[in-house]
Amino acid sequence: MASSLLRTLIPFDIYGGMKLTGKYFGKVLLQSNRGTKRTHIVVEYPETPVTLMPRYRGRLQMIKDEQGEIKCVCCLACEKICPTQVITIEKGKKEGRKTPYPTRYDFEMERCIFCEFCVESCGFDSIILNHQFELAAYNREDFSHGTEGVFQNMYDLTPVGHYSVASEE
Ligand code: SF4
Ligand code: SF4
Repeated sequence: MASSLLRTLIPFDIYGGMKLTGKYFGKVLLQSNRGTKRTHIVVEYPETPVTLMPRYRGRLQMIKDEQGEIKCVCCLACEKICPTQVITIEKGKKEGRKTPYPTRYDFEMERCIFCEFCVESCGFDSIILNHQFELAAYNREDFSHGTEGVFQNMYDLTPVGHYSVASEE
């Protein structure tokens, strides 16, 4: 009780943030060659690749197993948990496959809030939020991935533009 009151009265978090800002500000200010050399505080994207944090949440992507088969078994957990209801799955069958096969896996990205609930709810590690961050498009239709019959877009995604992924620390 006393400690929470103390935290409310004294803004430790603001102090921590200001301290960090001051540290980097001072570092730049004291650089001897700052007049001749460009000092990089921000990434000069797109010329410079962006380093993303491992937990960055980008576009929803389906995952294949070692045999190249879609891992999703249509349990519908992700569809049910999605707060913005952007996932629509149709359960089907595929020859030679024992588990259900998604004949449709629609993902309407324009309404996705990147909460990652879908990924967390999946007990089969079938989906991820990948590191694609260039998600702008000119047409509304371009935000819909995995429309019926062409949901392969969901797992054959290739990175757009330059980007790199930060290693786990
Ligand atoms: S990240 Fe959240 S909003 Fe986006 S599809 Fe998954 S559950 Fe839905
Ligand atoms: S939770 Fe996973 S296995 Fe279940 S429908 Fe979604 S992607 Fe498929």
